[in-house]
Amino acid sequence: MILYKDAIHCVTSSASLLSSEKLKAESSLGRVLSQEIISPESLPPFANSAMDGFAISFEKPLSLPFRKRVNGIIAAGDALNKHRTATNECWEIMTGAPVPSDCDTVVKIEDVQRDGEWVEFSKSVLKGQHIRKAGEDILSGNKIISSGTRLLPEHIMAFAALGIKEVAVRCRPTVAVLSTGAELNDDSNTENGKIRNSTAPYLLNELTSLQLEKKFLGVVADDPKAFLKLMESELTNNTDVILSTGAVSMGRYDFIASALRELGAEILFHKVAIRPGKPLLFAKIGKTAFFGIPGNPISTVVGLRFFVEPYLRAIQGVEFEKPYRALLENPFNKPAGMRCFSKAQLSIQRTQRTVRILPEQESFRVAPLLTAQCWAVLPEEGNFVEAQSEIDIYPLHSYTQKELL
Ligand code: AMP
Ligand code: MG
Repeated sequence: MILYKDAIHCVTSSASLLSSEKLKAESSLGRVLSQEIISPESLPPFANSAMDGFAISFEKPLSLPFRKRVNGIIAAGDALNKHRTATNECWEIMTGAPVPSDCDTVVKIEDVQRDGEWVEFSKSVLKGQHIRKAGEDILSGNKIISSGTRLLPEHIMAFAALGIKEVAVRCRPTVAVLSTGAELNDDSNTENGKIRNSTAPYLLNELTSLQLEKKFLGVVADDPKAFLKLMESELTNNTDVILSTGAVSMGRYDFIASALRELGAEILFHKVAIRPGKPLLFAKIGKTAFFGIPGNPISTVVGLRFFVEPYLRAIQGVEFEKPYRALLENPFNKPAGMRCFSKAQLSIQRTQRTVRILPEQESFRVAPLLTAQCWAVLPEEGNFVEAQSEIDIYPLHSYTQKELL
């Protein structure tokens, strides 16, 4: 049995970066950037008015009130640089319209009196006011997005604003899921010792949320031959990751480890000092990573969240996920030597996060996950964690990270 930190080191150090592909920037949502984005242009691209009002050249000293004749109207979308402004002239200008190069200040329409083709300025004016300068948002040549960033709609807005049409992203990892268990029965009949397969739909949906290419290989009962047949066929597809559930414990029908040996897989670890999910197995078969995740629903959730996800991050060049810190509200008994991933509720007051570990942590229970808001991670040391201890927490789903801030 190895420690979680050693298991994760083993998982991430066995990962090689996936290759890249070019994508249309507007279709890159959810993908992981494999280049850094250096701005090719400045934003705004030209000085423009932040208000509907009048563009002037600021005069010093300012003596109020002063009058200027309106030379014309400049609307958003009008061409640049066609204007010449005499000292006693101004331009009626709209929000977003280019400011003439010889003007440096805009006075908003509410602050002037219009009198035919003349405008009277009676309120105090600051030089440079109400002008969005070229490049004051983003400067050409500046780095704006790091490689390894998962792209969100706001990144796509920046690409569109800067005229970036194409971006390099990691190829989407391919993940195959298979279930083991002679008890699994999907014809909605739970008599005769059968149960429904709840973890395959969980995994497939979570993999969809993680923006991965996923497929379900089916249920192999507890039949090593059927497992080997499925594996041999799937391995010809160069799948990046294969996940199995069940059959990695100590029972008579827990065949995954021996079947993998038969397949020539390199088993890198089997059993980790964690709860739930202790029997978890990690192997490499050529370039394919194989995670044998225990079958209980919460063990499966923990296996994906804390073993498979770090591997998927590593092959996509995404930074390792860092925990948040929180105060533990209720004392917690735990097995010594085991790292516990516990379902918890979170409250945030001002900047202080507090977590309350939910009472029912057994790995067969599905219901507590419905009310949990985060994972509380309790370290290996000791068999008791005192209330008010500071502990690590993770969002229930890595893609909802911002909700914890
Ligand atoms: P195993 O890891 O195969 O020993 O399974 C541990 C427990 O998880 C057993 O009670 C199984 O019936 C249950 N289990 C295994 N696979 C699934 C599944 N796909 N959906 C729901 N429960 C499962
Ligand atoms: Mg089983």
